[in-house]
Amino acid sequence: MIGIFILTALAFVLSFVLVVVDARLNKVDGRLREIESLLPGYNCGSCGFSWCRAMSEEILKNKDIYIKCRPLRGKAKKEMEDYLGIEEVK
Ligand code: SF4
Repeated sequence: MIGIFILTALAFVLSFVLVVVDARLNKVDGRLREIESLLPGYNCGSCGFSWCRAMSEEILKNKDIYIKCRPLRGKAKKEMEDYLGIEEVK
């Protein structure tokens, strides 16, 4: 009977350790999430990146690259420009 309690306690401790390690290894920059949320999310690849997350990472490095996202238009484009602090080009 004591063995079951020990195994249960061990499983609980190990699962807690796994959750903490996973959270630290997969730590995502908050700006990355915000930029990704401003992209259309089609994962269409027309920007040259295989998915919107990769494009978000590139925007963090070079904010002017957002223009390569062709589906990003209108209000969504304006929101991205506002977020990145880019003046609208007319
Ligand atoms: S073009 Fe835009 S919607 Fe398509 S994958 Fe690139 S960032 Fe995502």
